[in-house]
Amino acid sequence: MPKVVIIGGGWAGCASAISAKKAGAEVVILERTDLLLGLGNVGGIMRNNGRYSATEEAIDLGAKELFEITDKYSTHVNIDFPGHNHATIYNVTKIERPVRQKIIDMGIEVKFFSRVVDVEMEDKKIIAVILEDGEKIKGDAFVETTGSSGPMGNCTKYGNGCAMCVLRCPSFGGRVSISSRCGVEDMIGRRNNGEYGAFSGSMKLLKESLSEEIQKELNEKGCSVVPLPEELKNEEKLDIKVCQQYALPAFSNNIVLIDTGHAKLMSPFFNLEKLRLVPGFEGALIVDPYSGGKGNSIRYLSVAPRDNYMRAKGVDNLFVAGEKSGFYVGHTEAICTGSLAGHNAARSCIGMYLIQLPTNLLIGDFIAYSNNEMSKPDGDKLRFTFAGSIYFNRMKELGFYSTDKSTICDRVKKVGLEGLYNKKIIE
Ligand SMILES: Cc1cc2nc3c(=O)[nH]c(=O)nc-3n(C[C@H](O)[C@H](O)[C@H](O)COP(=O)(O)OP(=O)(O)OC[C@H]3O[C@@H](n4cnc5c(N)ncnc54)[C@H](O)[C@@H]3O)c2cc1C
Repeated sequence: MPKVVIIGGGWAGCASAISAKKAGAEVVILERTDLLLGLGNVGGIMRNNGRYSATEEAIDLGAKELFEITDKYSTHVNIDFPGHNHATIYNVTKIERPVRQKIIDMGIEVKFFSRVVDVEMEDKKIIAVILEDGEKIKGDAFVETTGSSGPMGNCTKYGNGCAMCVLRCPSFGGRVSISSRCGVEDMIGRRNNGEYGAFSGSMKLLKESLSEEIQKELNEKGCSVVPLPEELKNEEKLDIKVCQQYALPAFSNNIVLIDTGHAKLMSPFFNLEKLRLVPGFEGALIVDPYSGGKGNSIRYLSVAPRDNYMRAKGVDNLFVAGEKSGFYVGHTEAICTGSLAGHNAARSCIGMYLIQLPTNLLIGDFIAYSNNEMSKPDGDKLRFTFAGSIYFNRMKELGFYSTDKSTICDRVKKVGLEGLYNKKIIE
């Protein structure tokens, strides 16, 4: 049976694996750590702003599995916080297990502790990927979803050192860019000041380490906005972070907390001594990244040039998704791009024509527009998300933003792509 090999088991890798499997391929995920979901183990915010429309469109295209789990394991549904509406928050302390179970139940093989370090190529095709211990994993098509953060050297060079984030490079070895092993040069994102990479934009506090009043508000409302004393306000931090959708004064003038199981603090890092000066935070403890008092992971250092089939330029059977495929921020963005990459990888195994989502679909427009904008001068300073910044504005202008499920479903039906990812194409 044709085989699709997925490198990296974050949200993009899991989504790719599911759509390739449903298309009829044999699928294996190679993940360097002992957990699926990568950065998805520390995020949690779904369905906020335009992500609602993207989620519903992806479900109509046939990618319902992962969204069903994020909805089911939510701490809060339909909440608002500064600049964001109707968010669903999944519980980051519970989400990995059901996703892992779903993947295994679908008959997808997962190999943990499997860091890919090299490739074996023939002409413009990958024949096999090579693991750290020398084992070769052969396949007919490959999907690279290794993300864009790490290894440690990059967090040191472009950030404040290894922040001991969930990717745990010191224990499992750093990310490796597979596309660059194939000879394709990575694109690197820059900040507004021209420096490379961007700081991840949030950290987690142990909820129980906060005052009872804050805990109660988080448990009941899902969100708590605590004004910062004047001397602790810092607008500069807004400029260095990945998540441009949170670059609003409300996030530098206040501590904005979201209940993700932990208390997610919407700031890249926060000096612990200073944090403890804020009423209610006297005993605050940081749980992610462990060194969140000093820094955070650095992202957007490794994006592969690709076409709108999600195929890496210059390698016939390598597909990319998630942060590897663009300056993308978000779980939803990773799942939407991953679903298409996995589906096309399965098609490429049997020499079938590939699918490009039309630009009169939201996800099709997102994939094509971001690809085009990234390659323009200063395009490396842009970040793309359905939740805010330039793309959410575009969504609204083009009429793609809607929370009405039937409007979104009609859009997908009109282009004849309802249930695309549910179709078995390899018999
Ligand atoms: C602190 C933080 C908070 C966030 N909060 C949110 C949020 O609330 N909502 C939201 O939508 N987004 C959020 N994001 C962004 C979101 O998490 C990411 O954009 C998205 O999850 C990226 O998914 P990915 O699959 O592309 O990459 P990753 O999650 O980075 O996954 C890559 C995977 O590949 C593996 N890997 C790397 N190299 C190799 C190799 N050589 N061999 C094998 N495996 C390898 C890694 O171990 C990892 O599991 C947050 C990000 C951070 C850091």
